[in-house]
Amino acid sequence: MQGLMMDRPLLISSILQYAASYYGDTEIVSVNTEGGEHRYGYRAMAQRSAQLAHGLLAHGMKTGERVGTLAWNNHRHLELYYGVSGVGGVVHTLNPRLFPEQIAWIIKHAEDRWLFTETTFLPLLEALADHLDRVRHIVVMTDRAHMPESSRLKQLMCYEDLLEGQPETIDWPEFDEHTAAALCYTSGTTGHPKGVLYSHRSTLLHAYGAAMGDMLAAGRGDAILAVVPMFHAAGWGLPYAGPIVGAKLVLPGPKMADGETLQRLIETEGVTYAAGVPTIWMALLGYLRESGKTLGRMRYAGVGGAACPPSIIREFHERHGVITAQGWGMTETSPLGSMALLSRAEHESLSDEARIARQAMQGRAAFGVEMRIVDDSHAELPWDGVASGRLQVRGPWVCSAYFRTEHSSAHRDGWFDTGDVAIIHPDGWLQITDRTKDVIKSGGEWISSIELENHAMAHPAVAQAAVIARPHTKWTERPLLIVLPAKDQQPSIDEWRKHFTGRVADWWIPDDVVYVEEMPHTATGKVNKLALRERYADFRFSNDRENQ
Ligand code: AMP
Repeated sequence: MQGLMMDRPLLISSILQYAASYYGDTEIVSVNTEGGEHRYGYRAMAQRSAQLAHGLLAHGMKTGERVGTLAWNNHRHLELYYGVSGVGGVVHTLNPRLFPEQIAWIIKHAEDRWLFTETTFLPLLEALADHLDRVRHIVVMTDRAHMPESSRLKQLMCYEDLLEGQPETIDWPEFDEHTAAALCYTSGTTGHPKGVLYSHRSTLLHAYGAAMGDMLAAGRGDAILAVVPMFHAAGWGLPYAGPIVGAKLVLPGPKMADGETLQRLIETEGVTYAAGVPTIWMALLGYLRESGKTLGRMRYAGVGGAACPPSIIREFHERHGVITAQGWGMTETSPLGSMALLSRAEHESLSDEARIARQAMQGRAAFGVEMRIVDDSHAELPWDGVASGRLQVRGPWVCSAYFRTEHSSAHRDGWFDTGDVAIIHPDGWLQITDRTKDVIKSGGEWISSIELENHAMAHPAVAQAAVIARPHTKWTERPLLIVLPAKDQQPSIDEWRKHFTGRVADWWIPDDVVYVEEMPHTATGKVNKLALRERYADFRFSNDRENQ
């Protein structure tokens, strides 16, 4: 027997209509690419998104057409999120930090017919001009006063011209909720980037899931600073969840890695919740230490994209009274998978050490995401806080296949293999210990690089630490500690041994340490371990006598 409830499609345009109706005056503040700030409310944003949609349709945009964006976090990018998808287009966020050849490959693979770009990225597009023959329109996200000239790119359109004169209202069309809405490529370390194609339905369900109290520590009356780029995993869904809960949105534009701007925005815009990757928070905390400035009304720091070292959790709390909410996810999971947000009772009852240890894990799965850990033969492992295995997930906002890719070994039996290695504790609390390709296999046992890095980061001499596996004749692999020093101090390996003793099993302790002047990062802000492994390809451990 079928239920007798209405079958209304879950469409992204409904978020916009809701926010415009109920939170019309709630602000969206953006740092402009050309300087200054822009502010308006959800009502005005909905009007401009409607104008954009009309403009796109007037220039012949068709359902399913990919509309690429090379853009910062700002109001125009937000309008593209809604205006493109709202009329059946697919907003395709391009990560400008990728290598130009990768960007060219992605534009071609996605068959982008439109490209919306900031003035910042025009030189990048000019360099790629020979690869853009199938792109019909290039729109610069600026006003007429700031329109650049380009000899290589013909017929540049001005964003504001595209909107001008178009109606401020639109009857957002209704269509199948499974229609594609947004596209985002992940840059795997091997092979070509892979496209994750979100649908209206997956985006809506993800936004509902993300808006839940145990996931997003923000609601009406809050101000969310989205430091995570909107070109990375749909800005972690904040551009959708924020309007649903009626939160003010603060978008840092090109200044997303600038501690000074972030602090100013946090203070002047009354930010209560800010979300970003650990390296952003390290930079901000460093700026606060030097400047003596504070975090105003900020209560929560959402952190994800890479493991959050306990040192960040501690400093946020002890110096600024800010609670860290660590989330785990992937582009393939829209991205929310889990969140480590403790209850008030836990905050009150746990010791500092126990609380930080729990916040340094990845937390409880979002309702809607099923998780399991399996061994190499795909047999399920227990949730006992000991067994570690490959983390697999499934759910309505987990990708079922990559865009235009015939086969993916990550998809099997209706589960998606995340490529992460995890432990699940008896109460379901997730603990990521590594990426499969980053685990250190010593004498047949696994050593968690994340756990070693977390302990290393607690040392005052460390600005950033990474641990990689290097070959060892006797043990197959051993951990090598790589440190970006905070000051001039460079502790010896004996001092490091003392530091790790008692914190981890003796056989986990790194055998050597090297100091670097900068830590390589990927386009999504993670420590680039592949680059480190390449850089230290010829490294020999001093205790590996047979291999000198
Ligand atoms: P991306 O698709 O670029 O967002 O990268 C997803 C990957 O980032 C995951 O598979 C994890 O390896 C890593 N990741 C994301 N969040 C966390 C976290 N909280 N702790 C550890 N690793 C994380």
